[in-house]
Amino acid sequence: MLQENASDADLWLLNSCTVKNPAEDHFRNSIKKAQEENKKIVLAGCVPQAQPRQDYLKGLSIIGVQQIDRVVEVVEETIKGHSVRLLGQKKDNGKRLGGAPLDLPKIRKNPLIEIISINTGCLNACTYCKTKHARGNLASYPIDELVDRAKQSFQEGVCEIWLTSEDTGAYGRDIGTSLPALLWKLVEVIPEGAMLRLGMTNPPYILEHLEEMAKILNHPRVYAFLHIPVQSASDTVLMEMKREYCVADFKRVVDFLKEKVPGITIATDIICGFPGETNQDFQETVKLVEEYKFPSLFINQFYPRPGTPAAKMEQVPAQVKKQRTKDLSRVFHSYNPYDHKVGERQQVLVTEESFDSKFYVAHNRFYEQVLVPKNPTFMGKMVEVDIYESGKHFMKGQPVSDAKVYTPSISKPLAKGEVSGLTEEFRSRLGNHLTSTSRPSATIRRGSASSRMVLRLQRLHQDCALRMSVGLALFALLCAFFVKVYN
Ligand code: SF4
Repeated sequence: MLQENASDADLWLLNSCTVKNPAEDHFRNSIKKAQEENKKIVLAGCVPQAQPRQDYLKGLSIIGVQQIDRVVEVVEETIKGHSVRLLGQKKDNGKRLGGAPLDLPKIRKNPLIEIISINTGCLNACTYCKTKHARGNLASYPIDELVDRAKQSFQEGVCEIWLTSEDTGAYGRDIGTSLPALLWKLVEVIPEGAMLRLGMTNPPYILEHLEEMAKILNHPRVYAFLHIPVQSASDTVLMEMKREYCVADFKRVVDFLKEKVPGITIATDIICGFPGETNQDFQETVKLVEEYKFPSLFINQFYPRPGTPAAKMEQVPAQVKKQRTKDLSRVFHSYNPYDHKVGERQQVLVTEESFDSKFYVAHNRFYEQVLVPKNPTFMGKMVEVDIYESGKHFMKGQPVSDAKVYTPSISKPLAKGEVSGLTEEFRSRLGNHLTSTSRPSATIRRGSASSRMVLRLQRLHQDCALRMSVGLALFALLCAFFVKVYN
């Protein structure tokens, strides 16, 4: 049984991110807290995958990044008092696979948004990156599996799909296909009223596909939005980072897309104070931000990650790193990217509630955030609004008086917390089981991931009947999919 409150759970399943030191410190603190509260513990994510022998992980169960479909087994064994470690890689005929099957049952954080990881790993070896240690080389999911997952999501009422990975631009190079090939297949199955958002892509691999990418980003059901991390505008620093591109490459990608996809949003990342970064290097980065005025910019102060080549390089003094981070933040806050949009009429897709619970959050065609009044009929729908106010990170929109909520050809969404990916047959079997506690029928097929998971869920339930109450505190299970890597 999943518990809302972590302290009510018998077992904590702790996910982790290895991108930055603070994220790992948070993970370490969560483990300590779980131990103090005498919880059983299962660890997941990139930290234990990259370095399972660290002292503070000793004796604890670990589930590897490619093994998440076996989480129920690991939980069951841990509850029994065993320590289990599943860290292997999934292979088919010696070839590395993308990871766990895509048709696994799951509970979406937001029932309107499906997040699909299209590949794991990447083709680079950036000198500051620890993620690579955990995720390894590129392994892409086949196009048909990804398209099936998207179709299923739309049948379950999803209205927005996010494609993610360490580098979506590299997608398919290991299996003889490409990102544009995948995207053309995906747009065929996106129903009216739903949108696709592309994830992060590094400059090197996308350079080859610029023409096609521009066409796709102009598609009415694809957000004109791309996240391209530049990290630094100094070629010397980029070389030290082993990023495999130079600033001119980045500019070529951005300039081309801005010309061919009018109004496109380009988001980027910058690391301040990478080892060896001189003041002149940093000023080049400042100039790039002043020139392009990125509406969305992730500024990261450099932290050396243990075990990476960058950790052994001569470091920029902490005070200097801090000052540069501050200076760049000041430049970023010196412009308002949305002021000129006040007065525009826009169509927006409403998908969630704002943090302060005062508005609903929607996005326009350029994936710019538009806050709209909290009218429950808007949720999951396209609405036409007049922009009447703008801030640094948002606009506010008033629905036009005669506007009808655009009802797309999408099914009713799953309820919050409802399991996705179960067929009707398994859904009803699970329902029956939960009310009767009868043993699973021998006629249940064991082939699909859904059925395997259902059988495990059923076993788990029987354990519950024996008063082995299992609580899984999913502290950061979804976080890893949202925390962007240090690209
Ligand atoms: S920073 Fe991104 S592209 Fe570079 S090695 Fe790490 S995961 Fe790969």
